[in-house]
Amino acid sequence: MAPYQSPIAPGRSWYEDSVERPVYPALGGSLDVDVLVVGGGFTGLSAGLHLARAGLRVAVLEAHRFGDGASGRNGGQMGTGQRLWPGEIEEAYGLERSKALFDLAEEAKAHLFDFIETNGIDADLRRGQLSVVHKRRYLKDYRAQVEDLATRYDYPHTSFMDAEETASRLGSRRYFGGIRDLGTGHLNPMKLVVATARIAAECGALLHENSAVTRLDRSGGKIVAETATGTIRAERALLAVNAYGSGLSSEIDAHVMPIGSFIGASEPLAEPDRILPGGESCDDSRFVVRYFRKSVDGRLLFGGREAYTSATGDIARHIRKQIAEVYPHLADVRITHAWGGSVGITMERMPYVRSLSPGVTTIGGFSGHGVMLANFAGRLYAERVAGNRDRLAEFEALRIPAFPGSTRMRVPLLFLAMTWFSLRDRF
Ligand SMILES: Cc1cc2nc3c(=O)[nH]c(=O)nc-3n(C[C@H](O)[C@H](O)[C@H](O)COP(=O)(O)OP(=O)(O)OC[C@H]3O[C@@H](n4cnc5c(N)ncnc54)[C@H](O)[C@@H]3O)c2cc1C
Repeated sequence: MAPYQSPIAPGRSWYEDSVERPVYPALGGSLDVDVLVVGGGFTGLSAGLHLARAGLRVAVLEAHRFGDGASGRNGGQMGTGQRLWPGEIEEAYGLERSKALFDLAEEAKAHLFDFIETNGIDADLRRGQLSVVHKRRYLKDYRAQVEDLATRYDYPHTSFMDAEETASRLGSRRYFGGIRDLGTGHLNPMKLVVATARIAAECGALLHENSAVTRLDRSGGKIVAETATGTIRAERALLAVNAYGSGLSSEIDAHVMPIGSFIGASEPLAEPDRILPGGESCDDSRFVVRYFRKSVDGRLLFGGREAYTSATGDIARHIRKQIAEVYPHLADVRITHAWGGSVGITMERMPYVRSLSPGVTTIGGFSGHGVMLANFAGRLYAERVAGNRDRLAEFEALRIPAFPGSTRMRVPLLFLAMTWFSLRDRF
């Protein structure tokens, strides 16, 4: 039998070959629950898990397989803080709010480390992230960022790297300097998805794959969701569909834009210690960011976006070209897996959390920063529903405007914008 291939994203990822994915049954018949969660990525599965733990009856419906969206196919880099730098958030919201958002992100990180450790999850978690500068003129900002994090955000885990240190930590002279962050890390996202689903099921969440919600309505005071094979009635619903929810809610479609990102995995490297000898992950200063790290079996996982088609041969060709720019000795390395997925971005590159109608909430739009935040956001939703705390309100208060133009116009506009940004990255 041919290996399973996600129907919503190109290519089979290396992650899929690194872990067994149990199959969950499709929804059959009709069910009554307290909370319906639509979407089985980090956000939806984490919400399901924490709602079930709080004693609520919860069902998670996933259109395909858990992890087929962005959560099982991403770069695995956790990052620190929000997607925007604290200074950028300060400009929009002031120091106090910026600090609150930074602290929330630190809690998200602590939550993820703790979740992995206390549940004994093998998610290939490794410490360390390098953020490197591809234009000399950015060095000043990166140096100031280290200072800012330490003195104003009580985050002492970063250090500034000059060109020499950067070259020795990367194994490449392609970059001019950067930041080393030992307070964060990277992981195998599909292993995390699989484990989160397993633990959610153990806690009593009802998990259903191949159960796309095709209609969401209201009847007799309840929310009613239909799939091809069943119906769910719920008091509340969380739409955790992120970049893949097209058509389910016009609000989500207007605020969360899917953009493609692509990754190639090399064969295990002949000399793995020549690159990233400290085992950190790396992302660079391009707007159309490049990100890479080594897998536990010594492959280079390299991501970026310049391939505008999603044929896997094309992805591999583009990624190999980008690899060669950083690591010329790997110009002919064999790419064994090439895949892509949709990142849900917002106009402000901050998460989109909204109450869409009474009892219906959406969480998504993490803008390439969901490995750490999405899991935590699912937990915050559960806290809100269980009536404990409402830390989700901090995200909900963010000003996230709709993208301009109709949904039909947004794809060509995005194409133009991405072309402009990748050109700008070059000069
Ligand atoms: C290639 C790539 C690289 C990335 N790298 C990084 C990184 O290094 N670091 C980082 O922090 N972030 C990264 N991201 C982003 C990160 O993966 C996301 O922010 C995160 O996974 C979002 O999780 P989610 O649960 O909100 O959405 P998703 O994981 O996308 O889940 C949404 C799910 O909803 C399901 N769905 C949609 N409609 C329906 C419906 N009608 N009925 C039922 N189910 C439905 C979809 O099938 C999908 O599985 C990357 C993303 C991609 C694609």
